[in-house]
Amino acid sequence: MHNRGHLGVTLILLSPILFYLLVNEYLFTAFYATLLALLCTTLPDIDLKFQTKSTILHRTPVIRRFVPNIRHRGITHTIWFAMLIGTLSAGVSTGLLYWNEVIVFLPETQFIVLSFGLGFVSVLFHVVGDMITPRGINPIHPVSYKNLSIPVSLAGNRFANEFFSVLGFLLFIYTMGSTIVYYINFFSREQIMVVYGGLYASILVVFLIYALGKPRFDACAYFIQRRLLNR
Ligand SMILES: [Zn+2]
Repeated sequence: MHNRGHLGVTLILLSPILFYLLVNEYLFTAFYATLLALLCTTLPDIDLKFQTKSTILHRTPVIRRFVPNIRHRGITHTIWFAMLIGTLSAGVSTGLLYWNEVIVFLPETQFIVLSFGLGFVSVLFHVVGDMITPRGINPIHPVSYKNLSIPVSLAGNRFANEFFSVLGFLLFIYTMGSTIVYYINFFSREQIMVVYGGLYASILVVFLIYALGKPRFDACAYFIQRRLLNR
């Protein structure tokens, strides 16, 4: 999946967390969480920069010797990398707390735990985005090289990338809209959470039926067939 698609998948999965933060009046935290998640979710594909001959680094004679050759969808697409990014996020957030305590509005420990969680899940959201392509991922290698793949679409499929980015954007807008509805006091917190959850699930289901109902994604059936035959 390309960057746009990954950002979309992350917005889709992040929206309920954001909504929870927003209706509990953790506005700054919600804003911070969005930025953090969108940044972290693009990090796994940093491995593309380290592939042989793929970057200027590898083409520069002296520098080339010091640049490691990392396989694409290798170590940066694992649970270990997710943990590393979670830890770094928690570190950055701790720094932020020391720098300016006032802006957080969330108990310190919760803020740090949330930051770890966001860094961690944002990388996993990226990994999920790559899992739905035929090539799949090896999420716990080198412990196990088991390949996980539920092929829905080829990574480069334009419709799939557009679909996820548009759906992510729509759900993000929907989350903001629902927050405004809550703040102008149409519903109690419990009511708005139930309404939000119900509509969120419905939007997701309708869009997925629309996309999967016709062969818009691509010929992944071919890959599934090949997998079955290999068994
Ligand atoms: Zn990737």
